[in-house]
Amino acid sequence: MKRSQKLFQHAQLVIPGGVNSPVRAFRAVGGTPLFLRRGKGAWVWDADGNRYIDYVGSWGPLIAGHAHPDVLKAVEEAASRGLSFGAPTESEVEIAALLCKLVPSMEQVRLVSSGTEATMSAIRLARGHTGRSKILKFEGCYHGHADSLLVKAGSGALTLGQPSSAGVPAEIAAQTIVVDYNDIGAVERAFQEDGKNIAAVIVEPVAGNMNLVTPRAGFLEAMRKLCTKHGTLLIFDEVMTGFRVALGGAQALFGISPDLTTLGKVIGGGMPMGAFGGCRAIMQCIAPLGPVYQAGTLSGNPIAVAAGLATLKLVQAAGFYERLTATALDLCERLTAAARQHRVAFSAQNVGGMFGMYFRATPPSTYAEVMQCDRATFSHFFHAMLADGVYFAPSAFEACFLSAAHGAPEVEKTIRAAKRFFATLNAPHST
Ligand SMILES: *Cc1c(COP(=O)(O)O)cnc(C)c1O
Repeated sequence: MKRSQKLFQHAQLVIPGGVNSPVRAFRAVGGTPLFLRRGKGAWVWDADGNRYIDYVGSWGPLIAGHAHPDVLKAVEEAASRGLSFGAPTESEVEIAALLCKLVPSMEQVRLVSSGTEATMSAIRLARGHTGRSKILKFEGCYHGHADSLLVKAGSGALTLGQPSSAGVPAEIAAQTIVVDYNDIGAVERAFQEDGKNIAAVIVEPVAGNMNLVTPRAGFLEAMRKLCTKHGTLLIFDEVMTGFRVALGGAQALFGISPDLTTLGKVIGGGMPMGAFGGCRAIMQCIAPLGPVYQAGTLSGNPIAVAAGLATLKLVQAAGFYERLTATALDLCERLTAAARQHRVAFSAQNVGGMFGMYFRATPPSTYAEVMQCDRATFSHFFHAMLADGVYFAPSAFEACFLSAAHGAPEVEKTIRAAKRFFATLNAPHST
């Protein structure tokens, strides 16, 4: 038996489902998750010593690649001075200033320890600032696992969200309005019905948690206008897109200024860190200045800040995003061309350093279209690629990520593996 399988059996005895976050369990694609031991650049090694090109990148943070020497050095230096103080440090001021400089809409920022904490805190701040209770989110967008965000659309009713997890009280879910991504008409109707009660609209400016769905032209602009008109705060959840689609995130890419921004993933460079920020007037509602309480024992942790600063230094190098984007585009175009050659209904697209792959002829632009993708073929694709040394996200509903360490050799190897798979789909004796 493989070591990963043995480890998974043991893990299931002591950890629910054998994993510390559900999507790692391979439930969407079947089989046993790989236990990873080591990463370097674009590559990871599993417990059995197999090597893979990694397109998960710890689900987004590792934009510089695994074990980048500059990041490791920064972490080692910070660790040698002590792991945590629970008191202000110079480096957290440095990263706060840098985040405010690079993310156009942020004047002040508070550091937290995860993306979930960032969105949860931003929602509380929006409610505290506006004195309103309701929030509006989009079906298929994920904003971490706080109660008010684990909500799906109720049947028909625009105004009554339903819990998408056991343990979320219906009363809390009912405070969340859920509408379709890319449907600005639905946002307008929600505002008509309930505008004066909506504290915030929270959105992934590029949706990356239902595979990858790009915003339709005008969708985010119209949302910005509606929020301003109704006194509602617009929250861009850039936990994934921040420092991933462009240096200033999606707001820089699209030229739209949200009221609040949430960050995570890349800003911690692989260490636990999140952040939320906005203009001074709103941010000063937070304790100790204002009435909105928010706190954290390990917030601004010096090791996480060191990893984040080192990573943010790397991404500011001239041409960093141009190169990353060009590699992602090349990968997507060549995957699409290979599929077409074998007459497989497949499409792929990237935004900066993130990309989506779809077993349907064109990229989806709605949640319903995402759901129409051929999941069974994706599972076969995933396992075939894995057997061929390419590690994609283990679900048809997750975006994938490149790092600066991914280059022509990795793309080439990925394309060769994909061609082998596409060829089997139309082999005479395949079903
Ligand atoms: C990953 C993610 C989160 C949650 O971040 P965690 O660090 O996993 O808590 C929130 N929002 C978006 C858009 C994400 O991609």
